[in-house]
Amino acid sequence: MPLTPYNILLQDARKGNYAVGAFNIFGMEFLPAILDVAEEEKAPVILQIAPLHFYLSDLPEYIKYVKSQIVKVKVPVALNLDHGKTREIIIKGIRNGFPAVMFDASRLPFTQNLAQTKEIVELCKPLGMTVEAELGSLNDEGAELTAETKDKLFTNPEQAAKFVTETGIDALAVSIGNAHGFYKGEPKLDFARLQQIRDKVPVPLVLHGGSGIKTDDFKKAITLGINKINIYTEMSASASLMMKSLLNAHDTPADFPATLYQVRLAVKEVVREKMHVFGSCGKG
Ligand SMILES: [Zn+2]
Repeated sequence: MPLTPYNILLQDARKGNYAVGAFNIFGMEFLPAILDVAEEEKAPVILQIAPLHFYLSDLPEYIKYVKSQIVKVKVPVALNLDHGKTREIIIKGIRNGFPAVMFDASRLPFTQNLAQTKEIVELCKPLGMTVEAELGSLNDEGAELTAETKDKLFTNPEQAAKFVTETGIDALAVSIGNAHGFYKGEPKLDFARLQQIRDKVPVPLVLHGGSGIKTDDFKKAITLGINKINIYTEMSASASLMMKSLLNAHDTPADFPATLYQVRLAVKEVVREKMHVFGSCGKG
């Protein structure tokens, strides 16, 4: 079916009280794995490409290829630019055919983040694009947090309400104890804060850094308004571990395409497991 707008997938998820999985792709390995599982599980899905991985492909040709694969799939699939940190990157994304973007100025002070995000919305909305933005910083370094540092780092519910209303974004990525990469220690999500954000913010909420969060915590976060969850690290780790075990199992060099195929199967299982936890299976 034709590419589905990211915004439509999120609105459906919100009505149905589940979360859509957003999985990163960068080349030819993860793309078929994710699309196959989406179709097998009848689950809507969001594919994302981060600028960090642009160097791995000829971007305009790659996006054309990704879209050509999406239209063959019988479930709704959206495509999003993940973590565009500057206006230049967003413009590059638009020129290369992204129908949705995540603009990330979360490292900047609140007023600058708001002003820059508003400009991106003004740029993208006339083009019919969906815009996700982030407020609050993720604790990617895994620092030990006190009540005071939490208040500085995590999304402030009052600011979130103002940010969403004044920018006109379609989805808000929150910081509630989630982090990118592997968690150092047990992730502790601030559900009380998530509830306060939910009560004040009218748009669907997004949880970045989904790799390593426990099933029960995902389910609770979904009941409190998370409708999109980003997964990358767990797919990457699973692919690498599978490759390592296959390469170690042979005295002579392994058959490379066969190895890549096994990697694809390993990635499929991560995607499938997440879709089940997120409640998106059967919703496509
Ligand atoms: Zn992220």
